[in-house]
Amino acid sequence: MNLPVPALNADSKPFWEAARASRLLIKQCDACMRPFFPPRHLCPFCWSDKTLWIESRGTGTIYSYTVIHRAPAPEFSGRGPYVVALVDLAEGPRVMANIVGAGALEAAVGDRVKLCFEERGEGWKVPQFERSAS
Ligand SMILES: [Zn+2]
Repeated sequence: MNLPVPALNADSKPFWEAARASRLLIKQCDACMRPFFPPRHLCPFCWSDKTLWIESRGTGTIYSYTVIHRAPAPEFSGRGPYVVALVDLAEGPRVMANIVGAGALEAAVGDRVKLCFEERGEGWKVPQFERSAS
């Protein structure tokens, strides 16, 4: 069974189109200069509508994680067990993603991770993370 492809809306369309090109975009407020995620029209800190897209370097640290043993939907039934983590990006925002690749199930709080992309159908890609050596 194929994994689901992203469902776009006006706020997320630039994010998913950049992901197709293996780039992780987050937003930054042009008034208070704070970066934030998920993407939205108004800054969550000062409510300015002057926001812009910036590219994340794709490095971060695991803030928390859980191991999924029972898939929440049939599409994910062949995947488990797998790791869902909250990752603090180097730029500051916290994102949710899977930890994939070698040693994913040994993920721990504080592990350094780096961005990778998981291919879905029709050219769509989902930003995920893998543990990095250092
Ligand atoms: Zn702001």
